[in-house]
Amino acid sequence: MASIFAHGFTAYALGKSFSKELYTKKLWILGILCSVLPDADVIGFKFGIAYEDFWGHRGFSHSLLFALLLGILITLIFYRKKAFTKTGVALVLYFFICTASHGILDAMTTGGLGIAFFSPFNDLRYFLPWRPIQVSPIGASKFFSIWGIKVLLSELIWVAIPASIYILAVNYVKKRKNQPQKND
Ligand SMILES: [Zn+2]
Repeated sequence: MASIFAHGFTAYALGKSFSKELYTKKLWILGILCSVLPDADVIGFKFGIAYEDFWGHRGFSHSLLFALLLGILITLIFYRKKAFTKTGVALVLYFFICTASHGILDAMTTGGLGIAFFSPFNDLRYFLPWRPIQVSPIGASKFFSIWGIKVLLSELIWVAIPASIYILAVNYVKKRKNQPQKND
């Protein structure tokens, strides 16, 4: 995993793409939830599921299909009235991207096994060719260490700064759109 902060902040930044009416606390909290949920798979370690298994860490829960199913499920549960409208499609897409962004960030980390993006059709594990993010330790205790600091620093550079630039850019475009047109 990248750390919970990197995943959550990515979802928060992506949520900024929505209009003011849709960009509610509920939206970004659900987005953050989607972005960290794939790592619930670490529970499997306690039950003897191996890292490389289907249900293992970075397995099915990190796949694109899982992201799509979760996107549909979250929209159906939390936005039932809007689910079958254009907004519903945008919401599914948003929650899909939040969830899928998790696997993509993980695929840019320096350690662990790769991501089963195409599970269950193909259980191969993939990394992106470019992996600048220091892998985060599994478990909180190890996080408060030099390793943890290294993780946060690399995420600051490769996740937080680009995501902040994205937020600023979206805000800028929105502001320009909302400005009344001058007739000259
Ligand atoms: Zn992960």
